[in-house]
Amino acid sequence: PKSKLPEVKTTIFSTIGVLARKYNATDLSQGFPNFEIDPELIRLVNESMHFGYNQYAPMQGHLGLREAISEKIEKLHKTRYHVDDEITITVGATQAIYTSIAAFVHPGDEVIILKPSYDSYEPSILANGGTPVPVQMSKGDYQVDWTELKEKISGKTRMMIINTPHNPSGRVFSKEEMLQLQEILRPTNIILISDEVYEHIVFNNYEHQSASRFEDLAQRSFVCASFGKTFHVTGWKVGYCVAPKDLMAEFRKVHQFAVYSIHHPIQNALATYLKQETNYLNLRKFYQDKRDLFLSALAGSKFKFTPTQGTYFQLLDYTNITSEDDDLLAERLIKEHQLASIPISSFNIDRRQDGVLRFCFAKKKETLLKAAEILCSLK
Ligand code: PMP
Ligand code: GLN
Repeated sequence: PKSKLPEVKTTIFSTIGVLARKYNATDLSQGFPNFEIDPELIRLVNESMHFGYNQYAPMQGHLGLREAISEKIEKLHKTRYHVDDEITITVGATQAIYTSIAAFVHPGDEVIILKPSYDSYEPSILANGGTPVPVQMSKGDYQVDWTELKEKISGKTRMMIINTPHNPSGRVFSKEEMLQLQEILRPTNIILISDEVYEHIVFNNYEHQSASRFEDLAQRSFVCASFGKTFHVTGWKVGYCVAPKDLMAEFRKVHQFAVYSIHHPIQNALATYLKQETNYLNLRKFYQDKRDLFLSALAGSKFKFTPTQGTYFQLLDYTNITSEDDDLLAERLIKEHQLASIPISSFNIDRRQDGVLRFCFAKKKETLLKAAEILCSLK
Protein backbone atom coordinates (compact mmCIF):
# COMPACT_ATOMS: atom_id res chain seq x y z
CA PRO A 1 0.00 0.00 0.00
CA LYS A 2 1.11 3.57 -0.68
CA SER A 3 2.21 5.15 2.61
CA LYS A 4 0.76 8.54 3.58
CA LEU A 5 3.80 9.10 5.81
CA PRO A 6 6.77 7.58 3.97
CA GLU A 7 9.40 9.53 5.94
CA VAL A 8 7.93 9.00 9.39
CA LYS A 9 9.74 6.60 11.71
CA THR A 10 8.67 5.18 15.09
CA THR A 11 8.52 8.02 17.62
CA ILE A 12 11.71 8.62 19.61
CA PHE A 13 9.79 8.04 22.86
CA SER A 14 9.17 4.42 21.90
CA THR A 15 12.64 3.70 20.53
CA ILE A 16 14.54 5.29 23.41
CA GLY A 17 12.16 3.75 25.97
CA VAL A 18 12.75 0.24 24.61
CA LEU A 19 16.53 0.76 24.67
CA ALA A 20 16.44 2.25 28.18
CA ARG A 21 14.58 -0.78 29.53
CA LYS A 22 16.85 -3.22 27.70
CA TYR A 23 19.94 -1.69 29.35
CA ASN A 24 18.19 -1.10 32.69
CA ALA A 25 19.10 2.58 32.39
CA THR A 26 18.27 5.43 34.76
CA ASP A 27 15.56 6.94 32.62
CA LEU A 28 15.37 10.70 32.15
CA SER A 29 14.18 10.40 28.55
CA GLN A 30 10.41 10.40 28.05
CA GLY A 31 8.56 13.04 30.07
CA PHE A 32 6.72 11.20 32.82
CA PRO A 33 6.93 11.22 36.63
CA ASN A 34 8.37 8.13 38.37
CA PHE A 35 6.86 8.99 41.77
CA GLU A 36 3.46 8.14 43.22
CA ILE A 37 0.45 10.33 42.55
CA ASP A 38 -1.87 11.90 45.15
CA PRO A 39 -3.89 9.03 46.75
CA GLU A 40 -6.87 11.39 46.91
CA LEU A 41 -7.06 11.37 43.12
CA ILE A 42 -7.08 7.56 43.06
CA ARG A 43 -9.79 7.56 45.73
CA LEU A 44 -11.89 9.92 43.62
CA VAL A 45 -11.61 7.66 40.54
CA ASN A 46 -12.57 4.59 42.61
CA GLU A 47 -15.48 6.46 44.09
CA SER A 48 -16.64 7.50 40.61
CA MET A 49 -16.61 3.85 39.50
CA HIS A 50 -18.59 2.80 42.57
CA PHE A 51 -21.16 5.52 42.02
CA GLY A 52 -21.95 4.56 38.47
CA TYR A 53 -19.82 6.65 36.08
CA ASN A 54 -19.16 3.55 34.01
CA GLN A 55 -20.93 4.22 30.73
CA TYR A 56 -20.18 6.65 27.88
CA ALA A 57 -19.53 10.23 28.92
CA PRO A 58 -21.15 12.99 26.83
CA MET A 59 -19.39 13.44 23.48
CA GLN A 60 -17.99 16.87 24.40
CA GLY A 61 -16.93 15.71 27.90
CA HIS A 62 -18.30 15.40 31.44
CA LEU A 63 -20.23 18.55 32.33
CA GLY A 64 -18.69 18.98 35.80
CA LEU A 65 -15.21 18.83 34.35
CA ARG A 66 -16.02 21.35 31.63
CA GLU A 67 -17.39 23.65 34.35
CA ALA A 68 -14.25 23.28 36.47
CA ILE A 69 -12.06 24.04 33.41
CA SER A 70 -14.10 27.10 32.50
CA GLU A 71 -13.82 28.44 36.09
CA LYS A 72 -10.08 27.79 36.20
CA ILE A 73 -9.38 29.61 32.95
CA GLU A 74 -11.54 32.55 33.96
CA LYS A 75 -9.73 32.81 37.30
CA LEU A 76 -6.25 32.60 35.78
CA HIS A 77 -6.65 34.38 32.44
CA LYS A 78 -9.86 36.44 32.75
CA THR A 79 -11.42 34.85 29.68
CA ARG A 80 -14.69 32.96 29.83
CA TYR A 81 -15.14 29.85 27.68
CA HIS A 82 -18.71 28.66 27.39
CA VAL A 83 -19.22 25.27 29.01
CA ASP A 84 -21.54 23.94 26.28
CA ASP A 85 -19.88 25.09 23.10
CA GLU A 86 -16.26 25.99 23.73
CA ILE A 87 -14.63 23.21 25.79
CA THR A 88 -14.01 19.58 24.73
CA ILE A 89 -12.32 16.84 26.76
CA THR A 90 -9.83 14.82 24.71
CA VAL A 91 -7.49 11.83 24.82
CA GLY A 92 -4.59 13.93 26.08
CA ALA A 93 -3.31 17.03 24.35
CA THR A 94 -2.05 14.86 21.49
CA GLN A 95 -5.59 14.18 20.31
CA ALA A 96 -6.62 17.80 20.86
CA ILE A 97 -3.77 18.90 18.56
CA TYR A 98 -4.38 16.18 15.98
CA THR A 99 -8.12 16.82 15.83
CA SER A 100 -7.66 20.60 15.49
CA ILE A 101 -5.40 19.94 12.52
CA ALA A 102 -7.71 17.33 10.99
CA ALA A 103 -10.68 19.69 11.29
CA PHE A 104 -9.04 22.55 9.38
CA VAL A 105 -6.08 21.52 7.27
CA HIS A 106 -6.99 20.84 3.63
CA PRO A 107 -4.59 19.21 1.15
CA GLY A 108 -2.05 21.83 0.09
CA ASP A 109 -2.48 24.05 3.17
CA GLU A 110 0.60 25.27 4.98
CA VAL A 111 1.06 25.09 8.75
CA ILE A 112 3.81 27.13 10.40
CA ILE A 113 5.62 25.41 13.26
CA LEU A 114 8.49 26.60 15.45
CA LYS A 115 11.47 24.24 15.48
CA PRO A 116 12.49 22.40 17.56
CA SER A 117 8.94 21.19 18.07
CA TYR A 118 7.16 18.32 19.77
CA ASP A 119 7.38 15.31 17.50
CA SER A 120 3.65 14.84 16.83
CA TYR A 121 3.07 18.11 14.97
CA GLU A 122 4.65 17.36 11.60
CA PRO A 123 3.20 13.85 11.05
CA SER A 124 -0.25 15.15 12.06
CA ILE A 125 -0.01 17.92 9.45
CA LEU A 126 1.29 15.53 6.78
CA ALA A 127 -1.37 12.89 7.45
CA ASN A 128 -3.98 15.53 6.62
CA GLY A 129 -2.34 16.60 3.37
CA GLY A 130 -0.78 19.77 4.78
CA THR A 131 2.75 21.10 4.43
CA PRO A 132 4.71 21.93 7.60
CA VAL A 133 6.57 25.24 7.24
CA PRO A 134 9.35 25.40 9.85
CA VAL A 135 10.65 28.54 11.55
CA GLN A 136 13.87 27.73 13.40
CA MET A 137 14.30 29.12 16.92
CA SER A 138 17.83 30.29 17.61
CA LYS A 139 20.30 27.85 19.12
CA GLY A 140 21.12 28.37 22.80
CA ASP A 141 18.46 30.89 23.80
CA TYR A 142 15.63 29.62 21.56
CA GLN A 143 14.39 33.03 20.46
CA VAL A 144 11.89 33.37 17.62
CA ASP A 145 12.82 35.57 14.68
CA TRP A 146 9.47 37.33 14.32
CA THR A 147 10.43 38.92 11.01
CA GLU A 148 11.19 35.49 9.56
CA LEU A 149 7.96 34.13 10.95
CA LYS A 150 6.03 36.95 9.28
CA GLU A 151 7.79 36.29 5.98
CA LYS A 152 6.82 32.61 6.11
CA ILE A 153 3.13 33.49 6.06
CA SER A 154 1.65 32.95 2.59
CA GLY A 155 -1.79 32.80 1.01
CA LYS A 156 -1.75 29.08 1.79
CA THR A 157 -1.07 29.39 5.52
CA ARG A 158 -4.04 27.83 7.29
CA MET A 159 -2.62 27.31 10.77
CA MET A 160 0.27 28.00 13.09
CA ILE A 161 1.34 25.96 16.13
CA ILE A 162 3.10 27.43 19.15
CA ASN A 163 4.11 25.75 22.40
CA THR A 164 4.70 27.64 25.64
CA PRO A 165 6.28 26.64 28.01
CA HIS A 166 8.26 25.02 25.24
CA ASN A 167 9.28 21.38 24.95
CA PRO A 168 12.26 20.75 24.72
CA SER A 169 13.89 24.14 25.50
CA GLY A 170 11.76 25.11 28.51
CA ARG A 171 11.33 28.63 27.10
CA VAL A 172 8.34 30.57 28.39
CA PHE A 173 6.98 33.14 25.93
CA SER A 174 6.73 36.64 27.40
CA LYS A 175 3.72 38.92 27.25
CA GLU A 176 5.58 41.05 24.68
CA GLU A 177 6.13 38.01 22.46
CA MET A 178 2.48 37.02 22.62
CA LEU A 179 1.50 40.61 21.74
CA GLN A 180 3.96 40.52 18.86
CA LEU A 181 2.39 37.29 17.60
CA GLN A 182 -1.07 38.79 17.99
CA GLU A 183 -0.11 41.75 15.77
CA ILE A 184 1.40 39.47 13.12
CA LEU A 185 -1.72 37.32 12.98
CA ARG A 186 -4.26 40.17 13.24
CA PRO A 187 -4.62 40.84 9.49
CA THR A 188 -4.82 37.09 8.66
CA ASN A 189 -7.34 34.25 8.98
CA ILE A 190 -4.72 31.91 10.40
CA ILE A 191 -5.94 29.54 13.12
CA LEU A 192 -3.54 29.13 16.05
CA ILE A 193 -2.94 25.97 18.03
CA SER A 194 -1.42 26.97 21.35
CA ASP A 195 0.03 23.89 23.02
CA GLU A 196 0.08 24.81 26.72
CA VAL A 197 0.48 21.41 28.36
CA TYR A 198 3.14 22.76 30.76
CA GLU A 199 1.03 25.81 31.72
CA HIS A 200 1.48 25.26 35.48
CA ILE A 201 5.19 24.38 35.38
CA VAL A 202 7.01 27.74 35.28
CA PHE A 203 9.89 28.87 37.47
CA ASN A 204 11.39 31.93 39.18
CA ASN A 205 9.57 35.05 38.02
CA TYR A 206 8.32 33.63 34.74
CA GLU A 207 4.59 33.75 34.15
CA HIS A 208 2.67 31.60 31.72
CA GLN A 209 1.03 33.77 29.06
CA SER A 210 -1.85 31.74 27.70
CA ALA A 211 -3.14 32.58 24.23
CA SER A 212 -6.54 32.79 25.93
CA ARG A 213 -5.39 36.02 27.65
CA PHE A 214 -5.08 37.95 24.39
CA GLU A 215 -8.41 38.78 22.84
CA ASP A 216 -7.48 38.57 19.18
CA LEU A 217 -5.38 35.45 19.71
CA ALA A 218 -8.13 33.78 21.76
CA GLN A 219 -10.61 34.34 18.93
CA ARG A 220 -8.50 32.26 16.55
CA SER A 221 -7.01 29.69 18.94
CA PHE A 222 -7.34 26.14 20.08
CA VAL A 223 -5.67 26.19 23.50
CA CYS A 224 -4.62 22.61 24.30
CA ALA A 225 -3.88 21.28 27.78
CA SER A 226 -3.12 17.98 29.54
CA PHE A 227 -4.05 16.63 32.96
CA GLY A 228 -1.22 14.13 32.46
CA LYS A 229 1.37 16.85 33.09
CA THR A 230 -0.53 18.78 35.73
CA PHE A 231 -1.60 15.90 37.98
CA HIS A 232 1.32 13.48 37.28
CA VAL A 233 -0.91 11.03 35.40
CA THR A 234 0.50 10.84 31.87
CA GLY A 235 -0.83 7.27 31.55
CA TRP A 236 -4.43 8.39 31.94
CA LYS A 237 -4.25 10.31 28.66
CA VAL A 238 -6.88 12.91 29.50
CA GLY A 239 -6.61 16.49 28.29
CA TYR A 240 -8.80 19.15 26.77
CA CYS A 241 -8.96 22.04 24.41
CA VAL A 242 -10.85 25.30 24.43
CA ALA A 243 -11.73 27.44 21.41
CA PRO A 244 -14.42 29.87 20.28
CA LYS A 245 -17.74 28.29 19.35
CA ASP A 246 -17.33 28.35 15.54
CA LEU A 247 -13.93 26.66 15.69
CA MET A 248 -15.08 24.15 18.31
CA ALA A 249 -18.11 23.14 16.23
CA GLU A 250 -15.77 22.00 13.42
CA PHE A 251 -13.46 20.31 15.92
CA ARG A 252 -16.35 18.28 17.31
CA LYS A 253 -17.41 17.10 13.84
CA VAL A 254 -14.11 15.20 13.74
CA HIS A 255 -13.85 14.37 17.45
CA GLN A 256 -17.24 12.63 17.61
CA PHE A 257 -16.24 10.11 14.93
CA ALA A 258 -12.58 9.64 15.80
CA VAL A 259 -13.06 9.22 19.55
CA TYR A 260 -16.65 10.03 20.58
CA SER A 261 -15.93 10.36 24.32
CA ILE A 262 -13.31 9.92 27.03
CA HIS A 263 -12.91 7.73 30.16
CA HIS A 264 -15.91 8.72 32.29
CA PRO A 265 -14.88 7.91 35.90
CA ILE A 266 -11.59 9.78 35.47
CA GLN A 267 -13.40 12.84 34.17
CA ASN A 268 -15.74 12.79 37.16
CA ALA A 269 -12.78 12.52 39.54
CA LEU A 270 -10.89 15.33 37.81
CA ALA A 271 -13.95 17.58 38.04
CA THR A 272 -13.69 17.49 41.86
CA TYR A 273 -9.89 17.52 41.99
CA LEU A 274 -9.49 20.50 39.66
CA LYS A 275 -11.68 22.71 41.86
CA GLN A 276 -8.96 22.68 44.54
CA GLU A 277 -6.58 25.26 43.09
CA THR A 278 -3.59 24.25 45.23
CA ASN A 279 -3.62 20.98 43.25
CA TYR A 280 -2.18 22.87 40.28
CA LEU A 281 -0.74 26.04 41.83
CA ASN A 282 1.71 24.03 43.94
CA LEU A 283 3.36 22.51 40.83
CA ARG A 284 5.63 25.52 40.42
CA LYS A 285 7.52 25.05 43.65
CA PHE A 286 7.33 21.27 43.45
CA TYR A 287 9.17 21.18 40.11
CA GLN A 288 11.45 24.13 40.80
CA ASP A 289 12.82 22.18 43.79
CA LYS A 290 13.46 19.19 41.52
CA ARG A 291 15.12 21.36 38.85
CA ASP A 292 17.35 23.02 41.44
CA LEU A 293 18.31 19.71 43.04
CA PHE A 294 19.27 18.25 39.65
CA LEU A 295 21.23 21.32 38.57
CA SER A 296 23.12 21.73 41.83
CA ALA A 297 24.13 18.06 41.62
CA LEU A 298 25.55 18.85 38.15
CA ALA A 299 27.75 21.65 39.46
CA GLY A 300 30.98 19.65 39.05
CA SER A 301 30.16 18.35 35.57
CA LYS A 302 31.44 19.50 32.19
CA PHE A 303 27.94 20.15 30.85
CA LYS A 304 26.86 23.73 30.10
CA PHE A 305 23.31 24.81 30.84
CA THR A 306 20.94 27.65 31.57
CA PRO A 307 18.30 26.73 34.16
CA THR A 308 15.10 25.92 32.33
CA GLN A 309 12.33 28.57 32.57
CA GLY A 310 9.43 26.11 32.52
CA THR A 311 8.39 22.47 31.73
CA TYR A 312 10.07 19.53 33.47
CA PHE A 313 12.88 19.34 30.92
CA GLN A 314 16.45 20.58 31.15
CA LEU A 315 18.71 20.86 28.12
CA LEU A 316 22.39 20.09 28.71
CA ASP A 317 25.06 21.23 26.23
CA TYR A 318 27.71 18.50 25.94
CA THR A 319 30.11 20.21 23.51
CA ASN A 320 32.86 20.42 26.21
CA ILE A 321 32.83 16.63 26.35
CA THR A 322 32.37 15.33 22.80
CA SER A 323 31.51 16.41 19.26
CA GLU A 324 29.31 13.38 18.56
CA ASP A 325 25.87 13.79 17.00
CA ASP A 326 23.17 13.88 19.68
CA ASP A 327 21.42 10.67 18.58
CA LEU A 328 24.67 8.72 18.71
CA LEU A 329 25.58 10.13 22.11
CA ALA A 330 22.11 9.39 23.51
CA GLU A 331 22.46 5.77 22.39
CA ARG A 332 25.98 5.48 23.79
CA LEU A 333 24.94 6.94 27.15
CA ILE A 334 22.30 4.23 27.48
CA LYS A 335 24.56 1.37 26.41
CA GLU A 336 27.76 2.40 28.19
CA HIS A 337 26.52 4.44 31.16
CA GLN A 338 22.93 3.21 31.69
CA LEU A 339 21.50 6.72 31.44
CA ALA A 340 18.65 7.62 29.06
CA SER A 341 17.92 11.07 27.59
CA ILE A 342 16.31 12.47 24.44
CA PRO A 343 18.39 13.72 21.48
CA ILE A 344 16.68 16.94 20.51
CA SER A 345 17.36 16.35 16.83
CA SER A 346 14.24 14.15 17.04
CA PHE A 347 12.37 17.46 17.41
CA ASN A 348 14.53 19.10 14.82
CA ILE A 349 15.32 16.61 12.04
CA ASP A 350 18.43 18.15 10.48
CA ARG A 351 20.16 19.56 13.60
CA ARG A 352 22.04 16.65 15.10
CA GLN A 353 25.07 18.76 15.81
CA ASP A 354 23.51 21.34 18.11
CA GLY A 355 25.24 19.46 20.92
CA VAL A 356 22.39 19.24 23.43
CA LEU A 357 20.45 16.44 25.06
CA ARG A 358 17.13 16.74 26.91
CA PHE A 359 16.72 15.39 30.45
CA CYS A 360 13.38 15.02 32.26
CA PHE A 361 13.54 15.93 35.95
CA ALA A 362 10.03 14.76 36.87
CA LYS A 363 11.74 12.06 38.88
CA LYS A 364 12.35 10.97 42.48
CA LYS A 365 15.29 12.55 44.30
CA GLU A 366 17.35 9.35 44.16
CA THR A 367 16.81 9.02 40.39
CA LEU A 368 17.97 12.62 39.83
CA LEU A 369 21.04 12.17 42.03
CA LYS A 370 21.95 8.90 40.30
CA ALA A 371 21.64 10.56 36.87
CA ALA A 372 23.73 13.54 38.02
CA GLU A 373 26.43 11.21 39.35
CA ILE A 374 26.68 9.53 35.94
CA LEU A 375 26.72 12.90 34.15
CA CYS A 376 29.47 14.21 36.46
CA SER A 377 31.61 11.16 35.64
CA LEU A 378 31.69 12.07 31.91
CA LYS A 379 34.95 13.85 31.19
N1 PMP B 1 2.59 18.66 23.62
C1 PMP B 1 3.77 18.68 24.25
C2 PMP B 1 4.67 19.84 24.03
C3 PMP B 1 4.13 17.63 25.08
O1 PMP B 1 5.31 17.63 25.68
C4 PMP B 1 3.23 16.55 25.26
C5 PMP B 1 3.54 15.43 26.18
N2 PMP B 1 4.66 14.76 25.93
C6 PMP B 1 2.02 16.58 24.57
C7 PMP B 1 1.73 17.64 23.77
C8 PMP B 1 1.04 15.45 24.67
O2 PMP B 1 0.30 15.44 25.85
P1 PMP B 1 -0.63 14.21 26.22
O3 PMP B 1 0.21 13.19 26.88
O4 PMP B 1 -1.66 14.82 27.14
O5 PMP B 1 -1.24 13.71 24.97
N1 GLN C 1 5.58 14.62 25.93
C1 GLN C 1 6.49 13.62 26.41
C2 GLN C 1 7.91 14.06 26.16
O1 GLN C 1 8.16 15.01 25.47
C3 GLN C 1 6.28 12.27 25.76
C4 GLN C 1 4.96 11.97 25.18
C5 GLN C 1 5.01 10.78 24.30
O2 GLN C 1 5.65 9.81 24.64
N2 GLN C 1 4.41 10.84 23.17
O3 GLN C 1 8.79 13.42 26.70
